[in-house]
Amino acid sequence: MTVSAARIDSVLAAVPKGLFIGGEWVQTPGRVKVENPATGEMIAEVADASPEQGRQALDAAVEVAESWAATDPRERGEILRKAFELLHQRSDDFALLMTLEMGKPLAEAKGEVTYGAEFFRWFSEEAVRIAGRYAMAPSGGTRLLTMKQPVGPVYAITPWNFPLAMGTRKIGPAIAAGCPVVIKPAAQTPLTTLALAGVLTEAGVPDGVINVITTSTSGQLSEPIIRDPRLRKLTFTGSTEVGRRLIEQSAEQVLRVSMELGGNAPFLVFADADLDRAVDGAMLAKMRNIGEACTAANRFLVHASVADEFGRRFAERMSSLTVGPGIDDGVQVGPLVDAAAVEKVSELVGDALAAGGSVLTGGEKVGTGNLSNGYFYAPTVLTDVPSSARMFREEIFGPVAPITTFDTDDEGIALANDTEFGLVAYAFTRDLTRAIRVAERLQTGMVGINQGIVSNPAAPFGGVKQSGLGREGGVEGIEEYLETKYVGIAL
Ligand code: NAP
Repeated sequence: MTVSAARIDSVLAAVPKGLFIGGEWVQTPGRVKVENPATGEMIAEVADASPEQGRQALDAAVEVAESWAATDPRERGEILRKAFELLHQRSDDFALLMTLEMGKPLAEAKGEVTYGAEFFRWFSEEAVRIAGRYAMAPSGGTRLLTMKQPVGPVYAITPWNFPLAMGTRKIGPAIAAGCPVVIKPAAQTPLTTLALAGVLTEAGVPDGVINVITTSTSGQLSEPIIRDPRLRKLTFTGSTEVGRRLIEQSAEQVLRVSMELGGNAPFLVFADADLDRAVDGAMLAKMRNIGEACTAANRFLVHASVADEFGRRFAERMSSLTVGPGIDDGVQVGPLVDAAAVEKVSELVGDALAAGGSVLTGGEKVGTGNLSNGYFYAPTVLTDVPSSARMFREEIFGPVAPITTFDTDDEGIALANDTEFGLVAYAFTRDLTRAIRVAERLQTGMVGINQGIVSNPAAPFGGVKQSGLGREGGVEGIEEYLETKYVGIAL
């Protein structure tokens, strides 16, 4: 082990384990257990909020909504800037926390701290650039003034796979815009968000502007908040299935909603691709976060003329990865989040093989020696997987890469678009014209050309079709937390 038990204990002990409501830490009789997916051991217990406490968190946010909206943009920006700096100072602690509660290797967890903190820096810069317009009506006379105002109290629900970044991507723009937030992290990974509340408070976020509720009953706690007429915005990152249900609930109060939902990313390799770059890109697009990312390449669509060579090189790289607990030196692939995730991946692989696919590498659980209590699955490449296989329709959310082939650009693009999801697509080609034509025809919110990662705080992240609504990051990100008001002025 490369991290001592004493260090682990001290980082876990430093995290507040209560609910954070109106600037106070509140304890509850019930507790939610947090498990380390590398060992199956319980590492902490946090508060278990009741629906009544959910309402109190919203009360706290509502109470400060007006005063927070009236703060100087510069003040909000500087608080976020300070939070960015504090996150960097505590990068090692946040990284360790994420590795312990979610499983990703330490190096990747540190990468997430950098990425997650960047949303605070980016939105600290956006806070002071909120602007409206002034125009003369085409018929003259009346002047048209538009102003941007904070949308109001926000409820944010985040998933377990990026415990820090999925929170900062919502909290950053909300604070910059002048909105108070109630945030509910996933029960499996609450520690990072609780620690983040401490950082935000230290950075100067006033009481009530950030409230954190952890719970074992996310549905029962959330529904009354979403149906409360005082809430003005719901921002959710998670599965399409849950997102759909939350959109229905949001209809009652006609809430502003942002939905970052599931993905089923195609990874297209054309005949003229630089195969070295394509394999590098495939490793990133597939293996970032152990394959547990909405942006993970889910379907490898490779031109028939290069499929064997691409598959061989890709499988060679995948088989060289070291699997193990994320806190160990040299580990590149940590455990999946829980036993159910390993079962789902195993089932999908079984189905793909039964449908005619074959294994180039991996294809099984890893569970001997010190890994026997964790949730490990071998990096896997499958080839000749027919597009009828379940893994071409469902998110794999694990380290498994199925390859299928195509012969023409039209066929490749049709395969890529043959899904109800539309978050991101990757395409590898050396031909600029092809790259642009393909990017235009792909039905996704984002496209990576000759690169296996698109996430960037300065770019608008989000999907089309059933991958969601709205964008996070970029200049678009803050708009999700602003209303446009038009004032007509007669002269
Ligand atoms: P999930 O089951 O939908 O859970 C996401 C969040 O919703 C968690 O906080 C969860 O809390 C909460 N939740 C579950 N049921 C709820 C309900 N009925 N009412 C209110 N909240 C509820 O998704 P997940 O398994 O954690 O995350 C994986 C999914 O997120 C994948 O589909 C992935 O593609 C997607 N994702 C999308 C993006 C993106 O930006 N597009 C980014 C990351 C992940 P509990 O877990 O405590 O129940």
